[in-house]
Amino acid sequence: MTQLLLATNNRHKVEEIRHFLASLPYTVLSLADIPNGPITIEDEPTLEGNALKKGREAYNASGMLSLADDTGLEVFYLTMKPGVLSARYAGEMATYQDNCDKLRLSMMGVPPRRRKAQFRTVIAIVGKGFERTVEGRVEGIILEEPRGNQGFGYDPLFVPAGFSKSYAEMSTEEKNQLSHRALALTHAVKVLKQL
Ligand code: IMP
Repeated sequence: MTQLLLATNNRHKVEEIRHFLASLPYTVLSLADIPNGPITIEDEPTLEGNALKKGREAYNASGMLSLADDTGLEVFYLTMKPGVLSARYAGEMATYQDNCDKLRLSMMGVPPRRRKAQFRTVIAIVGKGFERTVEGRVEGIILEEPRGNQGFGYDPLFVPAGFSKSYAEMSTEEKNQLSHRALALTHAVKVLKQL
């Protein structure tokens, strides 16, 4: 079977992505499975740039078809910030809690109609003479106060449009059926099927 390298060391991501790719004829590996896996510095100004950079570095190091993702929360009132800086919104060493606190404060007093946001995941697939990016986007609103304790990151502050629960009030299965990452992975599967 052809090998597909996921350009991440994050075990949870690897499990989620493996689940999506289960029906495809690939042996799915992660950076933890290869010697000298690259440590990509995510310093591009866009999600697309970072996903491609990670995908290219993984491909160059391994010669294997590689898949990389980058995700950001884009808040319209904050001119699409934190966006590509989502992991470091409250500083280089920021925890999920620090980032949520900063977001909550930044949105304090902002009326409901101006609290629109979107999670966006970009996935890059890089192989020999081949580069493609696909995107998954989920719109929603930013809560005034966090709700729920499932998930991670900004989940307690985000309610997807058409739902009443925050991402953090959903089970992993529920979130994985509708999330930005799931949508991007659905598109990635289509690309992989065409290869
Ligand atoms: P990454 O590109 O998947 O590493 O995501 C960058 C940052 O975006 C993370 O550190 C989180 O703060 C945030 N993030 C990504 N995906 C999610 C999600 O599904 N829920 C909440 N926050 C997320």
